[in-house]
Amino acid sequence: MTETATVTNWAGNITYAAGELHRPRSLDALRALVAGSARVRVLGSGHSFNEIAEPGADGVLLSLADLPAGADVDTAARTVRVGGGVRYAELARLVQARGLALPNMASLPHISVAGSVATGTHGSGVGNGPLAAAVREVELVTADGATITISRGEERFGGAVTSLGALGVVTALTLDLEPTFDVEQYVFTELPLDGLDAGTFETVMSAAYSVSLFTDWRAPGFRQVWLKRRADRPLPGFPWAPPATEKMHPVPGMPAVNCTEQFGVAGPWHERLPHFRAEFTPSSGAELQSEYLLPRRYAVDALHAVDAIRETVAPVLQTCEVRTVAADEQWLSPSYGRDTVAVHFTWVEDSAAVVPVVRRLEEALDGFGARPHWGKVFTTPAAVLRGRYPRLGDFRELVRSLDPEGTFTNGFVRTVLGEA
Ligand SMILES: Cc1cc2nc3c(=O)[nH]c(=O)nc-3n(C[C@H](O)[C@H](O)[C@H](O)COP(=O)(O)OP(=O)(O)OC[C@H]3O[C@@H](n4cnc5c(N)ncnc54)[C@H](O)[C@@H]3O)c2cc1C
Repeated sequence: MTETATVTNWAGNITYAAGELHRPRSLDALRALVAGSARVRVLGSGHSFNEIAEPGADGVLLSLADLPAGADVDTAARTVRVGGGVRYAELARLVQARGLALPNMASLPHISVAGSVATGTHGSGVGNGPLAAAVREVELVTADGATITISRGEERFGGAVTSLGALGVVTALTLDLEPTFDVEQYVFTELPLDGLDAGTFETVMSAAYSVSLFTDWRAPGFRQVWLKRRADRPLPGFPWAPPATEKMHPVPGMPAVNCTEQFGVAGPWHERLPHFRAEFTPSSGAELQSEYLLPRRYAVDALHAVDAIRETVAPVLQTCEVRTVAADEQWLSPSYGRDTVAVHFTWVEDSAAVVPVVRRLEEALDGFGARPHWGKVFTTPAAVLRGRYPRLGDFRELVRSLDPEGTFTNGFVRTVLGEA
């Protein structure tokens, strides 16, 4: 199917420049389309806040939403092979029905698996890598319409998962699973920033399987702490902040009914690890987002650096979330090679007001080697960005070897690779 309708991202701040939108219904149609097109980008569920998915005015924007959906669970091997257009909500339900689980999830299950791992999307947990860490195999349709498979263990696998969509169309991914587990979610309030030294920060963030801190930066310290405890692991107690007395939403003023169950009610992993329920609008719904990932050893200093400019940040902020991500091995992963703290900002929906604050924030975090989330709003100069990815040269070589004509490139990718 060919459409010329205007396509925007989920947030509505980007209208993709594209010559055509195609929604192939079969893999053969997809291969023929790719082989016959000079410029192609795939659109996942459109939850990125920048032009990363944009093909350009002469290009084809490809949606995999009409391909036969699918997720084949191999119970014995504890793996799942999932189609390139499938979203986490659907995948999680299938996997749970077979008594298995993904190791972690992002704050929302509405996003596509292929799009999420392409941008380094993550949840929280000192021992949890980004979502891409569960991927063991990638199936790609390359520019000539051929299908190739890249597996964990191959040298080039390091560039194959968190690839910004620059290698080809990801038609399937195989992910590691584990036996299903239950999670209990607890919310605490008012954790002070003063007195939070590096050791205490580490202990707080290690208090459960997944821990998030939230603040609006209208005052120092954190308004909420969310603990997601695996029911099969001990809960050491949380003496640093009092428990919440009512159910909460991370964005002040938003209804808690949109959020996954709290007050320690045990439930399956996929109904507790995301903050937001699949059947509700995630987050506030009217917003922009930015996020910076930096070495965890700088966490407390970086939080003080944000606190020092909170009078600039707070007026355009809905909520800020602090999470941890374990080091991983994807060359372009924002947590590549370093145990990470991720400092996220949900802004108001006003680019003109937000972008200058983003610039100011990037200056404040500059000394900490911050890597911006690939799917969110950032202004980090391209040369600075490139200096923060030691394997960028290897990724550039991989792109050249798989896509010599640049079929899958766009302005965003050219800038990252230093080819703009
Ligand atoms: C409300 C909200 C909450 C969020 N929460 C989190 C969070 O908790 N943690 C976090 O890290 N991020 C979070 N994000 C960011 C989000 O996870 C990323 O932007 C992610 O990339 C979204 O996936 P998508 O499918 O919508 O990707 P898109 O925006 O559609 O695409 C992203 C990239 O992937 C490529 N791509 C997509 N599918 C394919 C394919 N099949 N083959 C090849 N390339 C492909 C696209 O070309 C593009 O380059 C959030 C975003 C929103 C809107």
